[in-house]
Amino acid sequence: MSTPACPECGREQLEDHPAGLLFQHSQACTLLAAEDARRVADVDQASRVGWPFTRPATAVERQLLTASGRSLPADDAEAFVIVDYALANAVRRRTFPTAEPITPQETP
Ligand SMILES: [Zn+2]
Repeated sequence: MSTPACPECGREQLEDHPAGLLFQHSQACTLLAAEDARRVADVDQASRVGWPFTRPATAVERQLLTASGRSLPADDAEAFVIVDYALANAVRRRTFPTAEPITPQETP
């Protein structure tokens, strides 16, 4: 299986990265801008509620998860992300406990 790539800019996913879900992006990629904004918002939220915390997954996270071969439940209440801080690596880490691997559709 080839390395998953960003659906917009085509740069590859950094698999097995301590940050969890992480893609390389071109500077012009709008998903990069959305991801950067979300990271800033997460750090801000952690300053109020502490690490880790849980929040609904964003549309961009859904998109990138799909690109990496996993999908979240359609119900937003079940599509959540645990946002933590990996001290050893000094990175925000996102995990998606309800994400399921996408099984390839069988062609008839
Ligand atoms: Zn991208």
